[in-house]
Amino acid sequence: MKLKSLEISGFKSFADYTKIEFEDGVTGIVGPNGSGKSNVTEAIKWVLGEQSAKNLRGAKMPDVIFAGTSKRRPLNRAMVTMILDNSDHYVESDYTEVSVTRKLFRNGDSRYELNGQECRLKDITDLFSDSGIGGNAFSMISQGRVEAIFNSKPEDRRFIIEEVTGVSKYKSDKEKAKRE
Ligand code: ATP
Ligand code: MG
Repeated sequence: MKLKSLEISGFKSFADYTKIEFEDGVTGIVGPNGSGKSNVTEAIKWVLGEQSAKNLRGAKMPDVIFAGTSKRRPLNRAMVTMILDNSDHYVESDYTEVSVTRKLFRNGDSRYELNGQECRLKDITDLFSDSGIGGNAFSMISQGRVEAIFNSKPEDRRFIIEEVTGVSKYKSDKEKAKRE
């Protein structure tokens, strides 16, 4: 499973439709301060269902929609699509290519899609739960998080290890079974 491409339009500084293709190997994104590097990683967090505007450096969710510049009017819609190569079926789906889309309109309407079909956010979080890719997973390590992991309490560090090794899912299944 690998990240194949990312399509961003109307999200933060990406007013125009932008497609970023990820080749084999390591990809580095470089550019001057304020050019939108962090916005790329935030687009990934967002499409995976991030619900906290604060985690996206905003005050409210519509802040992710292109807010305009001195030369350009604001837009009414943010859209991000992430395409994963799933030919090894790492993510439990029959599709060899999985696409996830999130859209948000300024009037508050929002929409998620899996392989082009409208779905619930839960369908996306379920698909990625235990895959190491979800919004809260450790596939994304932001600035400061490395230090936070090193300085965390043993219980918190245990949680991280359980999350990474996929034990957390069994724990939550167990809790769910106990409640039923
Ligand atoms: P650094 O090297 O300082 O970390 P960076 O390349 O990571 O910079 P970002 O933080 O990704 O840059 O981008 C910041 C830019 O995105 C700012 O110019 C900011 O004005 C712009 N931006 C953020 N949200 C929006 C929005 N909703 N509409 C338009 N532009 C936005
Ligand atoms: Mg940055």
